[in-house]
Amino acid sequence: MKIGFIGLGVMGAPMCKNLLKAGYEVTAFNRSFNANFESCVAAGARKGLSNADVAAHSDVVILMVPNSPNVEAAVFGPGGVAEGAKPGLDIIDMSSIAPLASKSIAERCEKAGIHMMDAPVSGGEPKAIDGTLSIMCGGPKELFDKYKEVLDVLGSSVVHCGDVNGAGNTVKLANQIIVALNIAACAEAFELAVMAGVDPQKVYEAIRGGLAGSTVMDAKVPMMMDRNFKPGFRIDLHIKDLNNALDTGHGLGTPMLLTSAVQEMMQWLHNNGCGSDDHSAILKYYERITGVEVKK
Ligand code: NAD
Repeated sequence: MKIGFIGLGVMGAPMCKNLLKAGYEVTAFNRSFNANFESCVAAGARKGLSNADVAAHSDVVILMVPNSPNVEAAVFGPGGVAEGAKPGLDIIDMSSIAPLASKSIAERCEKAGIHMMDAPVSGGEPKAIDGTLSIMCGGPKELFDKYKEVLDVLGSSVVHCGDVNGAGNTVKLANQIIVALNIAACAEAFELAVMAGVDPQKVYEAIRGGLAGSTVMDAKVPMMMDRNFKPGFRIDLHIKDLNNALDTGHGLGTPMLLTSAVQEMMQWLHNNGCGSDDHSAILKYYERITGVEVKK
């Protein structure tokens, strides 16, 4: 099976390398010839010349780009996948995009004879490197079954969430809401504890094993205490996800009170120069108001 890989960023580059390690023949392409693209070519990927060229050399094309407009441009833009697609090409879009956009892109693909599945991921760069991502898939079950073996190279949890295109992205939005609110809860609680004079390391040790403990707490609170806000997952990408969640919730009539509060915090951070920080920098929202830093 020949695989095409488009979007060699923080996530896409290690995912592409894992497919190469597993023995797949991969043609890779990124909008710019950046260091990640170069490293994938050095690892054995064929250097694609355009998104269309990737499609022409592949049975299935994986996309890992930031948002819906990027997926649309990569597939239907000039020099896009649709231009180079051989009959029967499949697309696995692993980008996190709005479920409705995912559905409409899949419908457009279908008209061009291309089958598409959405398969966004959770886990961040470390799990992309380890090949232990959680992958949430939406679209026809036959397509899921056809590519389960490929997805197993990239993730340790690969779940078919529904036959409807966009089902994977709906689950991903749920994931992003829970992660954002959990980080904000940690930031608020640790800020309170430090302002009350308690060592944050003691707070962490005391509560991480109880009901308040979480994967998010274990991943993000040590980063906060170390003052390490290097991404990881950028505030700007999380704003994109929360905006997609708010749009979706507004369309469905779901109350989105908590999501909108954290989206506003992230928007404030973006406006104050922190958009490229890791999302653990939600803490800075509290610190800039109080003047008190949470650190070891
Ligand atoms: P990134 O910005 O590091 O990489 C995206 C890459 O796509 C860039 O190199 C960009 O040049 C390329 N690109 C954009 N448009 C393109 C086009 N039309 N044609 C070819 N290449 C194009 O982003 P990332 O962190 O790798 O995230 C990718 C997706 O994965 C996003 O949807 C994000 O929300 C999701 N995600 C990210 C993380 C994380 O921790 N970074 C975790 C889970 C999910």
